[in-house]
Amino acid sequence: MGRDEHDVTIMTDGRPSTVSEPSPAPATTRATDRLPDRTPGPVLPGEPLRLMCVHAHPDDESSKGAPAMAKYLAEGVEVMVVTCTGGERGDILNPRLKDDPEVLRDMTEVRRREMAAAVEVLGVQHRWLGFVDSGLPEGDPLPPLPEGCFALEPIDVATEPLVRLVREFRPHVLTTYDENGGYPHPDHIMCHKVSVEAFEAAGDPERFPQAGEPWQPAKVYYNQTFSRTRVMAYHDALLEVGKESPYTEWLKNWEDREPRPVHARVECAEYFPVRDRALIAHATQIDPDGSFFALDHEMQRKVWPWEEYELGRSLLPWPEQVEDDLFAGLRADVEAPDAPGAPA
Ligand SMILES: [Zn+2]
Repeated sequence: MGRDEHDVTIMTDGRPSTVSEPSPAPATTRATDRLPDRTPGPVLPGEPLRLMCVHAHPDDESSKGAPAMAKYLAEGVEVMVVTCTGGERGDILNPRLKDDPEVLRDMTEVRRREMAAAVEVLGVQHRWLGFVDSGLPEGDPLPPLPEGCFALEPIDVATEPLVRLVREFRPHVLTTYDENGGYPHPDHIMCHKVSVEAFEAAGDPERFPQAGEPWQPAKVYYNQTFSRTRVMAYHDALLEVGKESPYTEWLKNWEDREPRPVHARVECAEYFPVRDRALIAHATQIDPDGSFFALDHEMQRKVWPWEEYELGRSLLPWPEQVEDDLFAGLRADVEAPDAPGAPA
């Protein structure tokens, strides 16, 4: 795989000199093909825009998209994080807590507390869907998934509580992962499935009629935070200033897979410190000396000051170039001078 998708060349002062925009790939499943009669829920004058970010388990909301959420919150957007499972089967990834008796005794409770701390840092609204972590199966052959876990739930059972939340919170935009999960954890893949299913079902009065008044979000984006291009940019930046890169092995073993298209790039470097504080709140899941923190904020701001998103579904015209806002195409209703209730 080459780097020609969006090649970042680092100049001596660290600024990316050439950031050729990735051209959005043609969409394979535009919502308009599947939902021809669906109109997105309105953006009413005087009401805030609303963003719902659906994640598999605690810590994903901090590692993927957190600085963009913080930026939108600061602009007055309402942001709700939805977490599908409790992360009960997560490994302890912080070497300092490997033998911690409390963590070993009650991972479920520890992760609930960590999540509460991260939510406090981020300032978002938060809801649990209440499903049980499927764990990351390892071995050859892979063991079967544990009974009762999220990834084994029938799709309607797994989708209903999310439809209920979409109808209650009425987001204009949803975020989730791509169909590969971004990383092949069964709960990441299931998170994609239920998010897309909820996007299609929440506006349909015939589906889940007991789960509230229909509401149709306008689009679904997939987090594309961990692209090879970004890791490569971090790697090059470290080598450029003569530091060691923790990404060498990672890049060597990177699967040869097609790069994902990018449709939105949200500048949010100002909020990288918030993201890091939220990440560290997930103490069992993050090594404070690990590769997450290898590049300082100043350097990150220079080489990669944004979060990237792929558009998965949209009821709006498909963008022809990379946009800088997840609400692109939705703000006009609020700002148009002839919008009802707007000053003449
Ligand atoms: Zn995850």
